[in-house]
Amino acid sequence: MENCIFCKIIKKEIPSIKVYEDKETLAFLDINPINYGHILVVPKIHSENLLGMKEKDMNAVIKTAQKTANAIMKGLKADGFNIGMNNYHAAGQVVMHSHLHVIPRFKNDGLRHWPGKKYPENSDKETAEKLRKIL
Ligand code: AMP
Ligand code: ZN
Repeated sequence: MENCIFCKIIKKEIPSIKVYEDKETLAFLDINPINYGHILVVPKIHSENLLGMKEKDMNAVIKTAQKTANAIMKGLKADGFNIGMNNYHAAGQVVMHSHLHVIPRFKNDGLRHWPGKKYPENSDKETAEKLRKIL
């Protein structure tokens, strides 16, 4: 993908601070971390988002995420970590090359979780039915 910034990072055409690499994946520091040590894990084969990823790459990416999360816990003495993936612009995806965020978390780091809401009556069952029809 010619204009993909993460493909350029994978090809070493632009710099990144690499923490791990294997045949299928690359893990490097996010340039604008939520907490220090925030890592991005990308498949070397370009896909735009989770729905475009081959099973082999999904497996490889989650495996690398687990490795890097272990390093975050041990190497950075984190108290926990979040793994996230933004898919499509509506979900906040800015770089259109699939990537997992592995984010170190610390007690009292001040970050808040997403708000929750209640389903209006029966709409939980209707929602589940719409999903089951596809699945
Ligand atoms: P997303 O909103 O999931 O698409 O997030 C894209 C992430 O990529 C953001 O957290 C950015 O800070 C990060 N990012 C963008 N360009 C670079 C870069 N050249 N090197 C490292 N991280 C980057
Ligand atoms: Zn790409």
